[in-house]
Amino acid sequence: MARKPLIAGNWKMNNTIGEAVVLTQEISNRFEPDWSDTVDVALCPPFVDLKPAKTVLEFDKQHIAVGAQDVYWEEKGAYTGEISVGMLAEIGCAYCIVGHSERRGLFGETNEDVNKKAKALLAGHLAPIICVGESLAVRDEGTTDEFVCAQVRAAFAGIDENEAAKCVVAYEPIWAIGTGRTATPEQAQAVCAAIRETLKELYSQDTAEAMRILYGGSMNEGNAAILLAEPDIDGGLIGGASLKATSFIAIIEAALK
Ligand code: PEP
Repeated sequence: MARKPLIAGNWKMNNTIGEAVVLTQEISNRFEPDWSDTVDVALCPPFVDLKPAKTVLEFDKQHIAVGAQDVYWEEKGAYTGEISVGMLAEIGCAYCIVGHSERRGLFGETNEDVNKKAKALLAGHLAPIICVGESLAVRDEGTTDEFVCAQVRAAFAGIDENEAAKCVVAYEPIWAIGTGRTATPEQAQAVCAAIRETLKELYSQDTAEAMRILYGGSMNEGNAAILLAEPDIDGGLIGGASLKATSFIAIIEAALK
């Protein structure tokens, strides 16, 4: 089944509002409007940059979405420092990353938290980009598929098939994030295929075949084409290379082919 690729830029904690406006404008200027027929693109800047980035894209009438990097599952209340789904929806976010390995590793986000965040996003009509991925220790032990597929099962617990179909899964081996060390296309494909198999077991062949599974981990303009050519890799979650318009656009162009 032909799935429309998604190229999502995870800016992490980079770019002030002024810098975000400049980068968004540079990306918008280079983005050919008809590319959006073939590829979905999302920018995931820090919370404070979401509205300015969205404003630039709306002004330019570009079909480039914005997404957040995290969310809290409660609707409102005494949760100092947190941001709700409703707040993201009001800005016009289409996506939100959940379970990024930096949030799991640095901020203690658990599989249960990821599941609650995904459910809250779906209830608010935002598409979760659910990140999963193994450490180098797990890979060296030879238990990558078991570890990653357990993360997938936990993230989707209690989510029904219709809702699951709206989710995106991002396979991001921790040892490849921000390290310049990319999974080989064969390694990335093997885990993405195992994830799709798990989605098939949880839901159905049709739903698993329709869902997008991204690869993330030092994807750049030099390696995007070979990774995106793999049958179960439906796009990329891009960190470092999303911070420069030329490299991000080159990755989008690789997804057009
Ligand atoms: C990420 O943070 O999701 C990521 C894949 O980062 P990088 O592309 O820099 O490895």
